[in-house]
Amino acid sequence: MLDLLKELKDCDTVAISGHVRPDGDCIGSVMGTYLYLRKVFPEKTIIPMIEKPAPEFSVISGIDDIVTDFQPGVPRFDAFIGLDSSSPDRYGDAGIYFETAKKTIVIDHHISNEGFGDLRYIDGEASSTCELICDLMDRSLADKEIAMPLYIGIIHDTGVLQYSNVSPKTLNTVAWLIGYGFDFSKIIEETFYERTRLQNEMLGRALIESITFMDGKCIASKIDKKTMEFYGADSHAFEGIVNQLRFTKGVEVAIFMYEVESMEYKVSLRSRGLVDVAKIAKFYDGGGHARAAGFTMKGTFYDIVNNISDSIAIQLDEE
Ligand code: AMP
Ligand code: MN
Ligand code: MN
Repeated sequence: MLDLLKELKDCDTVAISGHVRPDGDCIGSVMGTYLYLRKVFPEKTIIPMIEKPAPEFSVISGIDDIVTDFQPGVPRFDAFIGLDSSSPDRYGDAGIYFETAKKTIVIDHHISNEGFGDLRYIDGEASSTCELICDLMDRSLADKEIAMPLYIGIIHDTGVLQYSNVSPKTLNTVAWLIGYGFDFSKIIEETFYERTRLQNEMLGRALIESITFMDGKCIASKIDKKTMEFYGADSHAFEGIVNQLRFTKGVEVAIFMYEVESMEYKVSLRSRGLVDVAKIAKFYDGGGHARAAGFTMKGTFYDIVNNISDSIAIQLDEE
């Protein structure tokens, strides 16, 4: 197994990054790794670099240390740790530091990850990147502040320990983490379930305007740019919509998309299990997991739905 501390021993500068539009697992793994490495190596320059996390993640200690706006003139890091990202283009603006780093370490659990980086710990079966960080840590060096973001990441990527990506190892890891005594119930409530008024309005709208097809096996909805501008909504406002669509009785695949540029959509797919949506997302240059995947595509809502429904039909026919 990758020996993280040994690999970083001689590195003075370390960047830690994750994917664009960071979710709970991305933020949790970046912050858990950051707090751990900062504790073990207080003399090193260690920089967490991802897009600004949503406000509910401010319970994580050190969250303000995240660097979001990268200065022109690229420092060459001794090591770049890339987390929760199936390919280097997912690092967004931080990708340049991946390109220039002397050593790259990739830790990820996306089934669509084909393997990249100098050193890797990639396990497509793992619940979350946070679970993988817990595998790699010297647990005797952990503390409550480090455990909390790692717990958040596991909770978010497993839908509160509900999805099929949960294994006995996941639960053992969670058992160890909550042993640190943070208020895990409050954390789930405030980072996972709680919605802003705007998020609930977007959810309501997306549910009402959704369409079903293929005998109710598929459901799709969208929020376009005009609506986003009217409500002042950004991607954070759509958190959880695709999961809620998936809960519709009879649905195998849920599709939610929002317009990132005129006639260009960020598409989220969720499957109940029969359809491998990672395969579909990968076909359109995205990625993800068998039951949760995404990609970006040009076209109208209906063009995109047509494209995806062909791919879904092929898989359902095979079943
Ligand atoms: P989302 O629908 O954005 O919540 O993403 C679901 C899963 O698919 C997450 O694990 C994402 O990291 C992954 N994913 C989403 N969009 C992309 C993309 N464009 N490329 C690769 N992976 C993606
Ligand atoms: Mn993620
Ligand atoms: Mn993840």
